[in-house]
Amino acid sequence: MNHLKKIPLRMVAKALQGSQPLQTAKYCSAGGAARLPLTFLTEDERMMKDTVAKLAQEEVAPHVKKMDATSKFEQSVIDAMFQNGLMGLEVDTEMGGSGCNFLSTMLVVEELSKVDAAVGALVDIHNTLVVSFIKKVANEEQKKKYLPKLAQEYAGSFALTEPGAGSDAFGLKTVAKKDGKDYVINGTKMWISNSDIAGVFVVFANAKPEDGYRGITTFFVDRDTPGLTVAKPEDKLGIRASGTCMVHFDNVRVPEENLLGTFGHGYKYAAGFLNEGRIGIGAQMLGIAQGCLDATIPYLFERKQFGKDIYSFQSMQHQVATVATQIEAARLLVYNAARRVEAGVPFVKEAAMAKYFASEVAQTATIKCVDWMGGVGFTKEFPQEKFYRDCKIGAIYEGTTNMQLSTIAKCIRKEYES
Ligand SMILES: Cc1cc2nc3c(=O)[nH]c(=O)nc-3n(C[C@H](O)[C@H](O)[C@H](O)COP(=O)(O)OP(=O)(O)OC[C@H]3O[C@@H](n4cnc5c(N)ncnc54)[C@H](O)[C@@H]3O)c2cc1C
Repeated sequence: MNHLKKIPLRMVAKALQGSQPLQTAKYCSAGGAARLPLTFLTEDERMMKDTVAKLAQEEVAPHVKKMDATSKFEQSVIDAMFQNGLMGLEVDTEMGGSGCNFLSTMLVVEELSKVDAAVGALVDIHNTLVVSFIKKVANEEQKKKYLPKLAQEYAGSFALTEPGAGSDAFGLKTVAKKDGKDYVINGTKMWISNSDIAGVFVVFANAKPEDGYRGITTFFVDRDTPGLTVAKPEDKLGIRASGTCMVHFDNVRVPEENLLGTFGHGYKYAAGFLNEGRIGIGAQMLGIAQGCLDATIPYLFERKQFGKDIYSFQSMQHQVATVATQIEAARLLVYNAARRVEAGVPFVKEAAMAKYFASEVAQTATIKCVDWMGGVGFTKEFPQEKFYRDCKIGAIYEGTTNMQLSTIAKCIRKEYES
């Protein structure tokens, strides 16, 4: 567990202070490296988790129903995300960000999704796909131009999918044609999250179609660029407040300085960043599952049938225990994949497993919670039905469940053949 070596023992000591006498030896291997439970959080991570949990209750929870009904974020909710540093989680502090690690981003997405998975989607996609991409691939000038704005001012969109290119994303048809010192982009993107409010789009377009997917290149396109139009948001089953729109590019002219990264490397970037992004979806699903369970258990203690609270029936207890165990297993997969990202070790299989499994668990957990609530679970008076609707997206976006299983299977083949 390489990541654990990164947690200084003074953090262990500090976090354990006050509870019981320190027994640091218990946490050390023979080689001296800390061996801690996977769910052990550093002081910074714990603080971030607790702060966001509180923020979600104060700033998000009062608006959840309305945002779901109107399919729109309240401006105050978006403002709260920016004002509290949640839109530039891993952006350096000098650029206006929060300077957090990747696991903290996952904790933020988990905590927000316990309250509203649409807000979880906004923060997750913005941070793990757009900001992270720019942070790792953009040149210094582009970073200085976009990162402070993305951290403090406007959301970003990751525009890859098209009407004819979903799971087969590299079959995209949007083109970027060189014209003097500009590129002219034409095409249509579909299902683009945050596009209703985004200030900038990271757009995947083929700048050399004769080379097939090796021509795919990425560009920054500012929202106010002539020829860019955002259609009205889709009327969705879940995460309704998260704006998902078609984006049209009609002779959209961008200067060559807007080329992001290396010409023709778009397919590599898409694959690479979606791998990280998938852990974020795992965290979102984990938040949904845990949030739904948390909202349900107290009802099971209160609701009386046959003269007893319904939690006292053993068949109920066993179901709750099964779901709680599944949620914990999903948490371990998500945190482990995130720790692997931080440790710089391979994580593709672990990320796919985390997304796949957490999406399945979120579905099971929310279905069960609706069941356990009885008739009231079927109404909008209680939050379970929204959790149940919101979780469905986990098995679809950033690679469907089938695509995750294919990735896992590919990795297994490699492991066994090598
Ligand atoms: C709410 C929402 C938000 C989104 N946000 C974004 C965004 O911000 N940016 C962006 O670029 N995209 C976004 N997407 C797009 C999303 O990533 C795609 O919808 C997803 O990748 C699936 O593509 P598709 O919808 O075309 O389904 P398809 O690819 O048509 O898949 C349909 C079914 O066929 C199966 N299938 C397809 N190919 C195979 C195969 N080879 N083997 C086995 N099964 C297969 C799939 O698993 C699925 O069950 C979003 C989508 C939604 C719904």
